[in-house]
Amino acid sequence: MSLSLFPEYERQERQLTLPEDPTIVVSISGGKDSVAALLATLETYGSQHVLAHHQVILEDWPGTPEYCQEVCDVLGVPLYLSQAHYYGRECRHCTKRYLSSDPEPHCRACGCRDAKLIMMVTSILDLVEWRRMWPSPAVRFCTSYCKRDVFNAWARHNRHLLGTTPVVVLGERWRESPGRSRLPALRSRPSLEWMLEWRPILDYRRIDAFRASRAYNIEPHYCYKAQGMTDEDLYEVDREGGPRMSCVMCFYKPAHELHASARVEVAQPIFARAVTVERTIGHTLKAGQSLESMIPSWSRGESHEQSDESPADVACKASISRQPESVPLLEHNQARRQDKSTSGRET
Ligand code: SF4
Ligand SMILES: [Zn+2]
Repeated sequence: MSLSLFPEYERQERQLTLPEDPTIVVSISGGKDSVAALLATLETYGSQHVLAHHQVILEDWPGTPEYCQEVCDVLGVPLYLSQAHYYGRECRHCTKRYLSSDPEPHCRACGCRDAKLIMMVTSILDLVEWRRMWPSPAVRFCTSYCKRDVFNAWARHNRHLLGTTPVVVLGERWRESPGRSRLPALRSRPSLEWMLEWRPILDYRRIDAFRASRAYNIEPHYCYKAQGMTDEDLYEVDREGGPRMSCVMCFYKPAHELHASARVEVAQPIFARAVTVERTIGHTLKAGQSLESMIPSWSRGESHEQSDESPADVACKASISRQPESVPLLEHNQARRQDKSTSGRET
């Protein structure tokens, strides 16, 4: 790996080095970059002290945890899964509503320990519903609640797995965005100071990431072809940009990508719920532009001609029937209970 392509972006203040015998946990989303990062890690360290962690996001392309499991099985890497799990409550004394990972109610505003449970929040759309707003580039609560904090809680709870010099591997690349173009290859993890973050594929092009999978006969996640990419796009076209793995209704996606994603049948239950949530909260996915308006084929019900019910009704039932219990939540929930640093966190 060469790190000299963008030397001006490398941090000068403190020289960190990778430990000689670290325990490495690769954060795998199922996207091409995280798989490439996993492969780069294995090439550097072998598989002995490498494990993987996947944050289950119910708005990911369906089947993503299974895909991650298959990739890890092929590579002989143990995979751990965890998922967001928050209690949305209303204080019985001061009526303040608050979101917390603590199973015991505790209103920070007035100290009351009695509260009404309003809803469980285990997904991004639950969060949107709870906060009555969509995330945005400025307030990206989806990543903090459903990704960063979930991983940190898992790591705190599983320190015994992580040895004395743990390293988390992230598959971010400099070319992806201006924000990522300044990321260092190595740094202490913000909010989890005893862990290093290592980004082994910062200098990869998009095509390098896809080719890395191909070199190991690993088929990229189906979402790329489902969103219109061909083999040539994957392996021959040296271009950055989407379509990305992302949540199917990610607010970062331009309208044409949302439209394309909404045409994929397996994604439609998620879009259905997203449209329902958007109608309920009265806040649009993008400023002045509703999700529903960006997926015109959706409101025409093109993929649901045989049903008497509206597309949203049909698909929403399917979405809701996806039980969070189908993933190994127990371990994560236990982690949440013990995770003092994030317990009692409020919206
Ligand atoms: S993919 Fe988009 S919606 Fe999903 S967590 Fe990331 S920023 Fe949020
Ligand atoms: Zn209160």
